[in-house]
Amino acid sequence: MQFKRKISSGLKWIASRRDARGGVLLYHRIDEPDLDPFNLCVSPENFEKQLAVIAESGKALSLHEFMERKNRDQLDRGSVCLTFDDGYLDVLTNALPLLEKYEIPATLFVTTGNLGKAFWWDRLASLVYPEGALPSTLFLEPAQSPAITIKGLSRKAIYKLLYPILRSSSATGREAIFSSLAKQLPDENRIEPQRCASADEIGKVASHSLLSIGAHTVTHSRLSSLDYPAQLREMSDSIDTLSAITGSKIDTFSYPFGLEGRDFDKLTLKAAKEAGIRYGFAADLNAVTPHTDDLAVPRLWVHNKAENAVRLPLQLWTGTSFRPPVSLAS
Ligand SMILES: [Zn+2]
Repeated sequence: MQFKRKISSGLKWIASRRDARGGVLLYHRIDEPDLDPFNLCVSPENFEKQLAVIAESGKALSLHEFMERKNRDQLDRGSVCLTFDDGYLDVLTNALPLLEKYEIPATLFVTTGNLGKAFWWDRLASLVYPEGALPSTLFLEPAQSPAITIKGLSRKAIYKLLYPILRSSSATGREAIFSSLAKQLPDENRIEPQRCASADEIGKVASHSLLSIGAHTVTHSRLSSLDYPAQLREMSDSIDTLSAITGSKIDTFSYPFGLEGRDFDKLTLKAAKEAGIRYGFAADLNAVTPHTDDLAVPRLWVHNKAENAVRLPLQLWTGTSFRPPVSLAS
């Protein structure tokens, strides 16, 4: 069975390469922080090199334009569109000035329950990673919960141990764990985690000609783990909040964590239709073809490398050459 699956996904890959027209790029943050345990950041310097190559190709499109052309089968080979997941503030402070410089449009998918606040995974990193003596055990709330032994573990191992506990906790349970951990872990040189843009900050860029806003749920939960009404609420409520903030109809959405079959499924796609979502974005790695499902569009997660992080995959997918501008070519 596994062999059959491999053959079928291999055939899908070959077919999509033959039909590939372009790619949707997936970014999260543009920054160079001291802490980045999930590799969510691309440095402003590397981001600018990537933008220069995309600008030189002349094939960057806004999300709606990209999808509309795809549906008319008029998407030029090598077309690109940029997206940012989660709603981090540094997209507005660090990425937007560079998007303006190169005149490249982008879409920011915002998690509405986190407006103006830091995500729990960044708060966890800021508690676990700073230097200082660690205790040999940790107590989670309630105080009588069994102690977790962390003696001899690296900070990365402690982070990996606590991450799934926090992910599966309710919002209230998570806050109780945070206040308990904050008392037990060293607080010298604790790094303030980056926060998301606030409602006000999103409102201010809502009519920016290069930036469009999409939704990314309320709580950033794995949708496939929720029942149908809860999935629908995550979509509809985040769309309603963003429509009120921006004064525009929101009809684009990206699925948290983003892998089809694992993080979202057929029920999610049904909820997406019911919530009025026109274009839904995944994190599965693939090119966009004329046959790509509007509600499960694959994307390329861009890493913190110079221009080749976008140049090479786009060239491979679309057979189009992406040359660095003369100023970047060595
Ligand atoms: Zn996300």
